[in-house]
Amino acid sequence: MKIYVSVDMEGIAGIAYKEQTTRGELLYPESRQLLTDEVNAVVEALVQAGAEEIIVKDAHATGLNFLYDRLHPSASYVLGPAVMANRFPGLDATFDGAVLIGYHAMAGTQEAILDHSWSFADIYGLELNGAPIGEIGFEALLFGLHGVPVIFVSGDDKTCAEAKRQLGSVFTYETKKATGRHSGLLKAPKRVYAEIGGVMGEAVRRRKECSAYSIPGPYEMKISYMNTSLADAHYYNETDTFRLDGRTRLLKDDDLLRLLSRTFH
Ligand SMILES: [Zn+2]
Repeated sequence: MKIYVSVDMEGIAGIAYKEQTTRGELLYPESRQLLTDEVNAVVEALVQAGAEEIIVKDAHATGLNFLYDRLHPSASYVLGPAVMANRFPGLDATFDGAVLIGYHAMAGTQEAILDHSWSFADIYGLELNGAPIGEIGFEALLFGLHGVPVIFVSGDDKTCAEAKRQLGSVFTYETKKATGRHSGLLKAPKRVYAEIGGVMGEAVRRRKECSAYSIPGPYEMKISYMNTSLADAHYYNETDTFRLDGRTRLLKDDDLLRLLSRTFH
């Protein structure tokens, strides 16, 4: 059995503040420890659940956040910045499931720790074919292109709710209950490491209940920027790229991967 794990940082146990997730900030080094410990708990749980091949992608910011000398030896790890067209190196249709660890709710979600969609500075919100979409939906679509279902998502309570709303049948684990963008009721990381494996094991056992995520084409992506100058920076050909209003760009495409790649260019 093969499982692909993608790891973001905002939803990791013990994290609630942007300074904890930003390289160069005072609190970042201890967050790397929290991140690495949670990744190790997840890899151990997957090994216990029978996974024979595990790829773990460091998906936060630069993709260089793990403490490499402390990583669990039973997985291989993808490091470094990602390109959308090959966001999950090594992924193919032979994988049995995908797991999203430490994720966060989409931009604009009320009482959600560090809610955003890809960029804190640029993106106000995204809509795909008329429905709001955040990073969970994006990642699930990319896995879905290979026929691989997302079987498990962890993060705060709003992250878990978004995953269920977007994906339907998926197993979730709450690392914290958010009460605001930077506040919440946090579970002690040690408790999370002890508990997360139980849900992970169930997700692996019952993975057939989860299906690969897809949205039928043709596709329209509406991108609302934080301000008008971010929208000004793009070229509009009025054929497949349109300016809807001061800060909104609309992309049309028949090819989903190409559309997702164009979204951030
Ligand atoms: Zn992140």
